[in-house]
Amino acid sequence: MLRNVPVSPLPIERFRAVLDDAGYRDLLALRDRARRLFAGRAVWCVNSTATGGGVAEMLRSLLAYTRGAGVDTRWLVLNGTPEFFAVTKGLHNRLHAASGELPPLGEAQRAAYEAVTAPAARQLAEMVRPGDVVLLHDPQTLGMAPVLRECPVGIVWRVHVGVDEPDDRVRAAWDFLRPYTHSVDTCVFSRERFVWEGLEHVGIEIVPPSIDVFSAKNQELDDPAALAILRAAGIVADGEGPPGMFLREDGTPARVDRRATLIQERELRADDRYVTQVSRWDRLKDPVGVLEGFVQHVGEECRAQLLLVGPDVAGVADDPEGAEVLEEVTAAWRALAAPARGRVHLVTLPMKDAEENGAMVNAIQRRASVVVQKSLAEGFGLTVAEAAWKGRPIVAAGVGGIQDQVVDEVTGLLVAPHDLAAFGHAVSRLLTDDELARRLGSAAQERVRDRFLEPRHLRQWVDLIERLPA
Ligand code: UDP
Repeated sequence: MLRNVPVSPLPIERFRAVLDDAGYRDLLALRDRARRLFAGRAVWCVNSTATGGGVAEMLRSLLAYTRGAGVDTRWLVLNGTPEFFAVTKGLHNRLHAASGELPPLGEAQRAAYEAVTAPAARQLAEMVRPGDVVLLHDPQTLGMAPVLRECPVGIVWRVHVGVDEPDDRVRAAWDFLRPYTHSVDTCVFSRERFVWEGLEHVGIEIVPPSIDVFSAKNQELDDPAALAILRAAGIVADGEGPPGMFLREDGTPARVDRRATLIQERELRADDRYVTQVSRWDRLKDPVGVLEGFVQHVGEECRAQLLLVGPDVAGVADDPEGAEVLEEVTAAWRALAAPARGRVHLVTLPMKDAEENGAMVNAIQRRASVVVQKSLAEGFGLTVAEAAWKGRPIVAAGVGGIQDQVVDEVTGLLVAPHDLAAFGHAVSRLLTDDELARRLGSAAQERVRDRFLEPRHLRQWVDLIERLPA
């Protein structure tokens, strides 16, 4: 039921390169405090996928740095049944107030849910020692809490999804999940507005996510290096060049060998300008809206292509809808009139090697003229922080955690999530005003440096765990 994901330690000392002197001194003090606090104790993180999506992405690097700081952190992934993931995907969609048909949340669903979470918790209960801390992530793992409560450990539930304006669908998911929160010490949300009603019995903390600027996905790449990766992955078609290289987490150089799958009418060339959205194939990311907003409202005179990028659909284990949504996007692409179809490219990236995948995302984002994230709901939107760190001008929907990242007209442009014309207009503005694009991009990068890097995130976790009841 639970599978161990190996985590190699990473040195936190590498943050010297991106922090000022005071920030770096604070980080070293934090490392020493964490070592004292966790002497003889382990921290167990449990979620439901090791690859694909923002949570896996973030855990990979946070756990590596905490290990590097000398804390015994472990990563476990919950392997569910198809019935289980149908329930949890339904919960996920409700927590985002998704429209459309949603599976019911009755006793049968609770039974399918607990048939996975209870045995998994029993398995973990055999492994923990007194004083350990268990961090459960997202709805998939919360059901483990009641069994774990029998053990002398701290239990924190971290939910990465939420909406600013809950409706009855959202409340139904809360009602389904709330009983389990009685067995945890603290619930952690990404933003204040996401905190549920009816959680007076449990501690509440607000912790926004962070990105790893040294990962293959965010590490520095100059333009020739980014282009070489796009060529190696088959995304840019023309010309021969040097191999596409990137650095792995442990610092060793690696080559991009796998190739992306492209659905396109004409090939993308090195000098084509493009707009991109990189996301799982999920209706809440509104890939069809991006496609329509682009072809209808970004004129040919902007001379830009659109790259809709996502994982190959086998790549995200806890996302059963991916294949279906990719088909919807492909159908929308086929339905375009010929000239418009030639401006849109659908790209699926191999997910077998998370770092190679990250290098491809990195190269795609770095060479983009504009990065968009037109989500209909968003817990945080790591892709926004990733693009911002690369100094890219961003157009994003003003929903959920995106609002904490993008200050409209200062670090990017915000649009209403369903307004395709406003979306297209904002993209066109950035494609035609280089000075605006440059100014917003560099302000976005500074905001990430101040707020969304790991040192701030790790400090919040250490503070939070220090406050748990003994
Ligand atoms: N991502 C990726 N490959 C893809 C699509 C997405 O590595 O083909 C990554 C993306 O770069 C980001 C994460 O998946 O790090 C998505 O996180 P986000 O918070 O934007 O959305 P979520 O998937 O968690 O809803």
